[in-house]
Amino acid sequence: MFEFPAKLPVPKAPCVPVMQADLPLSSAILPYLEQMDQNRVYSNFGPLSQQLETRLAAHFGMQSGGVLSASSGSAALVGAILALTGQAAPGRQTALCASYSFAASVSSLRACGYIPQFVDVDSDSWALDPQVLRALPDLAQVGLVVVTAPYGRAPDIAAWESFTQDTGIPVVIDAAAGFDVFTEARLGFSDHVPVALSFHATKAFACGEGGAILSTSADFLTHCRRAINHGFWGVRRVTCDNTNGKMSEYHASVALAELDRWESKAIRFSAVADCYRSTGAEIGIGDQLWLSGDISGVYALCQFESGDRALWAQKALYDHGFDSRFWYGFGLHAEPAFAGFDRGSMTVTNTLSRGLLGLPTSQCLSPDAIAQICKVIASI
Ligand SMILES: *Cc1c(COP(=O)(O)O)cnc(C)c1O
Repeated sequence: MFEFPAKLPVPKAPCVPVMQADLPLSSAILPYLEQMDQNRVYSNFGPLSQQLETRLAAHFGMQSGGVLSASSGSAALVGAILALTGQAAPGRQTALCASYSFAASVSSLRACGYIPQFVDVDSDSWALDPQVLRALPDLAQVGLVVVTAPYGRAPDIAAWESFTQDTGIPVVIDAAAGFDVFTEARLGFSDHVPVALSFHATKAFACGEGGAILSTSADFLTHCRRAINHGFWGVRRVTCDNTNGKMSEYHASVALAELDRWESKAIRFSAVADCYRSTGAEIGIGDQLWLSGDISGVYALCQFESGDRALWAQKALYDHGFDSRFWYGFGLHAEPAFAGFDRGSMTVTNTLSRGLLGLPTSQCLSPDAIAQICKVIASI
């Protein structure tokens, strides 16, 4: 049976937060709200959401298909799943997923009637490995695979495309935290494997609550649109399993203002990462750090050789006034609501989740503060 570490460190208040949301100022949002006053449209894929979708598709350099706005990353996942398969079919209710992820990955597939089966992740990519999944017994009962791009780390979309074509099992990628990684990597998207992003306040690209589905298939996006619009599209007929997952024009306004300033925000993420990189190298912990470029810039991760060391580091950071976080807890199989679901060995998940500690990344963090954090870690 899984056990939490007996004693988790407790912060000494007040702490430098592990992350601080940074969204557009009201003055930058106002021009869009004024357009809304003119439009008198407040939701239902109105002009501002449409503008956002078009601009985001251009941002990601998409030649076909595009971007569908959604009310959250979870709504994007649910919409993509419902468009791929509808509610889980009897006999194919198993959904393979990683335990090393945020709760919403599993909650979203649960909302579509699937029963999760946790599969351990690869120790290099921290994600599901399509080769491992191909070799699993009972694939006939598997109706869905949800692949988390952990901390936004880019998955091999082409490998998942082959997987879905060879096995006939639909795949959706939960890249909720991947906006900046996907922007920089100029990744190719896919006709068959949709990617879900989140624009939650704590993500790199943020509008409070929001999300998007990306696919190179315009047809598939229409299915998604219907699935997050009560099953309606074109005609007022409920034609599929559905939810209400539309982005409001208010959130689209914030997202448009966020997109207007994205370049400067991305530069600030790089600046924090560069500071960690150079200071970490000087202090001799450079090879433990995972930073913007490989992962989303809202995270700075420090990899420890054992869970005990990571906990000592967390305690030492608290003692110096810095918060830190095990962002994915100790795996979803350790969460009470998910503990009863099937899983194989969770060796890598258990080691990774205890060893990867999220460090503060707020954009106003001073180089001095970063140096202090690195020194505390080096002292462990
Ligand atoms: C943030 C996140 C989600 C959920 O996105 P919401 O917009 O909060 O619904 C899902 N999966 C992962 C991996 C996330 O980081």
